[in-house]
Amino acid sequence: MPKEHVDLIVEKASELATPYGGSRTPLVGKQMQRLKVIKDAAVAIKAGKIVAVGKSSILRSRFTAAQAVDAQGKTLIPGFVDSHTHLVFAGSREDEFEMRLKGADYMEIHSKGGGILKTVRETQRANEVELVQSCGRTLDIMLKHGTTTVEAKSGYGLTVADEMKCLRAIQQVRKVHLVDVVPTFLGAHAITPEFEKQSEDYVRLVTDKMIPSVARLRLAEFCDVFCEKGVFSIEQARRILDVGRKYALKLKLHADELTPFGGAELAAEAEAVSAEHLLFASDKGLQMMAERGVIAVLLPAASFALMIDRYADARRMIEMGVPVALGTDFNPSCWVENMQLIIALACRQLRMTPAEALTASTINAAHALNRAHEVGSLEVGKKADVLILDAPNHNFLGYRFGANLVSAVVKEGRLVDASRAT
Ligand SMILES: [Zn+2]
Repeated sequence: MPKEHVDLIVEKASELATPYGGSRTPLVGKQMQRLKVIKDAAVAIKAGKIVAVGKSSILRSRFTAAQAVDAQGKTLIPGFVDSHTHLVFAGSREDEFEMRLKGADYMEIHSKGGGILKTVRETQRANEVELVQSCGRTLDIMLKHGTTTVEAKSGYGLTVADEMKCLRAIQQVRKVHLVDVVPTFLGAHAITPEFEKQSEDYVRLVTDKMIPSVARLRLAEFCDVFCEKGVFSIEQARRILDVGRKYALKLKLHADELTPFGGAELAAEAEAVSAEHLLFASDKGLQMMAERGVIAVLLPAASFALMIDRYADARRMIEMGVPVALGTDFNPSCWVENMQLIIALACRQLRMTPAEALTASTINAAHALNRAHEVGSLEVGKKADVLILDAPNHNFLGYRFGANLVSAVVKEGRLVDASRAT
């Protein structure tokens, strides 16, 4: 039989490890631990898609390739999907980091004009081109560390014009960057001082002006709300989500991060795709999420960055059948682009195994972004988003940390050398 010609074959890998069979619904419970593992493995790629996965010898007998990559001693896994980032902002907050280390609390930083409002001011002052450039730089670093699909939230504009500017910046960068970017509208991220006494007026601005514009201009796929004590109440969040749904946006919710607030329950009731953070989620809320398949997006770097001892109870969630995904929570107070570090934190602080953390960083994270049909696993027909790890097996994920284990990234069939991609 004549051999089929393909564009690229990555072969002789000491191991290939991928979640499988989870493209329709997220993996839960023990499924999260079950990977397909192939020794001496190869992946064949044509027109940006995976056409075969298997033993090197078998793929070599079936295919000839324009380009071959020898992955001896290396491990192949799916590209990471970072399911929660605040990608678009201007400026930085390293000054308040030092204040926090010296014991300043949130209110002290806030009263000195710091915190989220500082980022909002700087983002409002930035123009669209500057925001596109800074997003591009961040995506370059993410790609180099293995992230091939990423969610990007707005939320530092907080006026109609500035929120649209941030979402347009996301649209601009996603047109030109290799990384797939999924936009989320998070106009309900904070309340600026002008609205401090009239949060209802701000909610109306979100529901009556921002969401209709976002929908009309097709600037986002998801609508998210920061539902927390002192920010947006359950009732306000419900109203915003209802309007988002009416405008055909899919829903997400920042829920139960700082206090037990009923966010998990609201996410389930609203049939949101995901609820994020969940440090204080109630058992009832988690039960409701499990029943409705709402994904828990866990962000252990947020606790680490803010130096709080509490982490989400991932073991309980997995035991209850809640699908668990991971993300960086990349933002000015949690400035991390690297999903490998998130996996290291998930293993140590959430007691997830490397296999569970890999599932949570790939296929389940893809579900949280409505992309599981095309990315998140090394299966025939999916986009060829493949990481070549400088490690002999997938159990090095989380175990070895701090250095970049990604030696090369294949993004939709294109080979990117991670040591050079900047
Ligand atoms: Zn967030």
